[in-house]
Amino acid sequence: MTELLFRDDGYLGSCAAQVIAADERGVRLDRTVFYPAGGGQPGDTGVLRFASGQAIAIVDTIKGEGADEVIHVLAPGEPLPEPGTEVIAEIDWERRYRLMRMHTCLHLLCSIVPGAVTGGQVSDGRGRLDFDVPGSSLDKEALTARLNELIAEAHPVGPRWITDAELAAQPELVRTMSVKPPSGAGQVRLIEISGVDLQPCGGTHICSTNEIGPVVVTKIENKGRQNRRVILAFAD
Ligand SMILES: [Zn+2]
Repeated sequence: MTELLFRDDGYLGSCAAQVIAADERGVRLDRTVFYPAGGGQPGDTGVLRFASGQAIAIVDTIKGEGADEVIHVLAPGEPLPEPGTEVIAEIDWERRYRLMRMHTCLHLLCSIVPGAVTGGQVSDGRGRLDFDVPGSSLDKEALTARLNELIAEAHPVGPRWITDAELAAQPELVRTMSVKPPSGAGQVRLIEISGVDLQPCGGTHICSTNEIGPVVVTKIENKGRQNRRVILAFAD
């Protein structure tokens, strides 16, 4: 089991850690700042640095079979470190920060579009959500204007934990039907954007909506009679 440092502090760019195991799938550490792909957010990339100064490249991060198991995927040809090796685990922070900003922006988008979310994906500099909404009521310019308003208002963003039972009593909190919130240990992690949005989420987020910066809705696609795909990008 790996201690998931990104869960409490999404701003950590690196940490000291020890190699627990390494095989052809990748490296497992006792603690990590690398976010494993999930909930529509891609896995982190970066490096593991050794005391010798040598470093090996991590090209992706994925979940293992066990709860809280994180696998750091090595670039092809990289040597496998021995269990017990001390490393500095360091993510590509600039990429992660862009992913955190876009991920948080998708929460804002979710809050201003009525209808269930049926899918979503964050990628570097872009993001999209699919909504179950009938007709063509969504307007690119109106959504862009409302998003940028919420961004400029600098709403605080932060985690809050509730019990499985509390969540079961408030099913309306689960807007994203395709993404299961992290739960099972009796506690569910919610992300609250003060006065705007509250929903279960295991991803990484920024602390204030104004960190997102200006965005633009680049496209609204029809993906079937009721399904609308809203695509976002950073404006700068
Ligand atoms: Zn989230």
